[in-house]
Amino acid sequence: MANLSPPRAAAARHPVLEVSDVVAGYGAHTILHGLDLRVEAGEIYALLGANGAGKTTTLSLFLGFVQPGRGRVRVNGADPLSHPTAARRQLAYIPENVALYEHLSARENVAYLLDLAGQPAGKQAVNEALAAAGLDAAAHERRVSGFSKGMRQKVSIALALARKVPALLLDEPTSGLDPKGTAEFNRLLALLRAQGVAILMVTHDLLSAADVADRIGFIDGGRLVEEVAASGSQRFDVRALHRRYANHEAQR
Ligand code: ATP
Repeated sequence: MANLSPPRAAAARHPVLEVSDVVAGYGAHTILHGLDLRVEAGEIYALLGANGAGKTTTLSLFLGFVQPGRGRVRVNGADPLSHPTAARRQLAYIPENVALYEHLSARENVAYLLDLAGQPAGKQAVNEALAAAGLDAAAHERRVSGFSKGMRQKVSIALALARKVPALLLDEPTSGLDPKGTAEFNRLLALLRAQGVAILMVTHDLLSAADVADRIGFIDGGRLVEEVAASGSQRFDVRALHRRYANHEAQR
C-alpha cells in the first residue's frame, strides 16, 4: 500500500492557513482591505464572493504571488514571502484548469511532479495514489492529453495525496463539472479532510460548497463579511445562504 498516512498537520487542530488583517493588491490598486481568514487541519473552507471580490488574490497570498502591505500570512507556520520554499512545500494548488505534461501519462505526470517537489516515489506508490484519487487503473498509463477536467483533477489530487501536504488550495474546482463529477470530486475532498488536510476552495458554486464545506465565508470588497459553519444534519440552510449571497452581490 502507498503510505497515505495523515500529513504532518493532522495531529492538532490549529490554523494551517492563516491570513490576519491583510491589506494587499496590485500596485496602487488595493484589493484586500484587512482580510482575516483561518482554515484548520481537517477542515474544508469554501470562500464565496462576486467576481473581483478578491478570492483568487487570497489564494495568491498563500502562494507568495501577492505581497501584503500589512498583516500576516502563514502556511503551516511558514511565511510565503520570507520562506517561500518552506511554505510551498506545505501546499498543493489546483487551479481552475489543471496544467499537466500533455505527452506524459497520468502516472508519469505524478512521478515527474513528485521528483520536482523533491519527494520521489516508486511506480507502485504512484499507482496507489492515483487509485486513491479515484482514477481508473486503465487510465494510469494513458497520456493525459485526452483527459477530462475531472480526470485531471484526480491526477492533481493523487499528487497532493502522495506529497502528504497539510494544505490544499483550489480555485473554482467544480466549474464545468457535471453533478456526478462534482459529487465525486467532493468525495475526494472529504477523503483529504479525513487525512487532516486544511482545504481552502474559492468557488461560485454554493450548492457544492454547502455539500462538502465545514465553513462557508463570504468575501466582499476585500473583507470577510460573513462566515457560516455547518451544523446539524442539514449542515447549511442553502436557501438562506443563497439569499445572503445574492444580497451581498446586489449591494456591490
Ligand atoms: P472571479 O470570481 O472573477 O475570479 P476573484 O474574487 O477571484 O474574482 P480576483 O481575481 O482576486 O477576484 O481579482 C480582484 C481584482 O484584482 C479584480 O479587479 C482584478 O481585475 C484585479 N487583479 C487580479 N489579478 C491582477 C493582476 N495580476 N494585476 C492587476 N490586477 C489584478
